[in-house]
Amino acid sequence: MTFEIKYKDARGRAGVLKTPHGTLKTPALMPVIHPGKQTLDVSKYGAEMVITNAYLIYKNMDLRVKALKDGVHELINFSGPIMTDSGSFQLSLYGDIDVSNREIVEFQEKIGTDIGTSLDIPTPPFVGRRRAEEEMEVTLSRAKEALEVRNSLMLNSVVQGSTYPDLRAKCAQTLSEMDFDIHPIGAVVPLMESYQYSTLLDVIMASVENLPDSRPRHLMGAGHPMIFSFAVALGCDFFDSAAYILYAQDDRLLMPDGTYKLENLVEMPCSCPICNSYSPEELRIMKKAERTKLLAQHNLHISLAEIRQIRQSIADGSLWELVEKRCRNHPYLLDALRKMKKYTSELERYDPPYKKTAFFYSGPESLNRPEVHRHLERLNRLPRKKRLLLLPPTEKPYSKHVDQGVMNFYSNMKISDYSNTKIPDLAKFSGENLQIVVVDIPFVVIPLEIDEVYPLAQNEAPQTMDQDARKFLRDHLERFVEGYQEILVSAEALEIFNIPLENLDITGNPFHENEIKIPSINSLLNDEIKIRYIADYQFGSGSGKALFDGETNIIKSKKTGKIRYIYDGDDLIATLRARDGVLVLGMEGARRLHSHLPYPINRVVVNEDAEPFAREGKSIFAKFIIDCDMNIRASEEVLVVNQDDELLAFGKSILNAEEFTSFNTGQAVKTRKGGF
Ligand SMILES: [Zn+2]
Repeated sequence: MTFEIKYKDARGRAGVLKTPHGTLKTPALMPVIHPGKQTLDVSKYGAEMVITNAYLIYKNMDLRVKALKDGVHELINFSGPIMTDSGSFQLSLYGDIDVSNREIVEFQEKIGTDIGTSLDIPTPPFVGRRRAEEEMEVTLSRAKEALEVRNSLMLNSVVQGSTYPDLRAKCAQTLSEMDFDIHPIGAVVPLMESYQYSTLLDVIMASVENLPDSRPRHLMGAGHPMIFSFAVALGCDFFDSAAYILYAQDDRLLMPDGTYKLENLVEMPCSCPICNSYSPEELRIMKKAERTKLLAQHNLHISLAEIRQIRQSIADGSLWELVEKRCRNHPYLLDALRKMKKYTSELERYDPPYKKTAFFYSGPESLNRPEVHRHLERLNRLPRKKRLLLLPPTEKPYSKHVDQGVMNFYSNMKISDYSNTKIPDLAKFSGENLQIVVVDIPFVVIPLEIDEVYPLAQNEAPQTMDQDARKFLRDHLERFVEGYQEILVSAEALEIFNIPLENLDITGNPFHENEIKIPSINSLLNDEIKIRYIADYQFGSGSGKALFDGETNIIKSKKTGKIRYIYDGDDLIATLRARDGVLVLGMEGARRLHSHLPYPINRVVVNEDAEPFAREGKSIFAKFIIDCDMNIRASEEVLVVNQDDELLAFGKSILNAEEFTSFNTGQAVKTRKGGF
């Protein structure tokens, strides 16, 4: 079995899992198949993998004989990959079952299941610590036994530990050191049934953070589409659904925004073939068995469509937007979304800095997103000037609209009488000692030099600021302005920022824009400074000077007037990518960055085997990576070196640092060029 990541967003991954019975896309939903009772062919609705219960097959003599003779695929009439559960669920219901761990693992291998499960103990939430600990030890010893018993059977190993994050972490850590293929996160159904999503968040994070990135994770028993995107954003890859049939039996329709009761419906709420063909009344008067089958089909349609939407969102880089939408469907999910704040820095390590789609602010929770956190951190990479000019927001990109915006904004203002007003003459400041920033939500301070770098121009927020945003702006702005010798800000801008003057520690009074001669703000900006700033912001302090030292020839697009190429003579140092304002290195740029940044910064180190391929400019596969800078995120421009730190190639990272070292399959760096 091999697992590869194709796209990443938040902590989620869209990948491909190869099994003996075919390849499937992840995240994936496995419908639960009841052996002997199933009448629906779930593959018709797009299910690529299913889960069935080995214990139920084992217990029923007819099923057992047939499964041993023809195999489980024949038994449940499904030709794709099959995962089997071991009877832990029955164990949790009845307290005892009559099969041993060894027997059920051997049985799963004999019936030809693709991925089997050891007999773990599903410890419910909120039990006493001693019980959680003791049962976790049993789960771990059975997991170990399963490894000894199996021959070629691939194995699930379930993370338990009840609602104790440290026990979940310990369990995950121990299992990660053993040779398993997939890790279910177990015994979370009671949390979902009682809407305790915040606790679920802690359980998932404690588990995921301690499991290897190279193995898929399965949120066991999660079958409601409302929760899928949230769990995927935290790093879950698999779901199983008995819900499609259980809810149907109960005359309930699953939807990504919640559950609908058939008895309350006057209209069918969706556009699947079932909802298009029947009215609620027709379904209500139908025979129970027939109705259940139809509602189960709707539930499958909807659940699998949500999984496809999630995979698309990951490829687009809009998973956060989807999560924020879905979490507004239940107040307790919204609460969990708010509590994700405490994991922002963990999530940030996995979230790619550059995405295809714009950042949409959907409410105060968006302020906790990794992109915002990252920007405020990376601001520290920029050089500090003496004076600061704070400008109110305009249309984006700010540097293009700032002159017009400033004029428009102040043209209707009256001149108030400020005695002792210190009227600055902006014209006397060159770009060298005046830092001009736009103050806006959600990124707070946007230095004009980097205002076209993703996501500083590629974001939208409502013009009316909510209270949380105002507070956020004020807190972070106050922190940012510390240490500047002089802060220039208009009284009108301060009003917008909602900041009392004394908090900014400004010498003199705020000026009114009408009272000063505003030179073109753009005339204060300078291309040389701009590219250096972008390099510092992207690669770290000092990178700009290292890359663009000496004679540089800046070529602009004739059509847009934007910087495109930066050369030294005939040598291309870098290209400024139009869509996201990011510097893409050229040969000379890679060489300069390599000599400037000390090892291991921004490096991916490959072994001898990969060296010739890297030099030829071929892509780097994860299995050849032996070390790397642990601060590398996916989608960044990185240097590929050998063990002696000789530069071999450069390219774009597909994975982050943790994933580079965890994965043994798949592409890790898309090489742009080798040949050094
Ligand atoms: Zn429907």
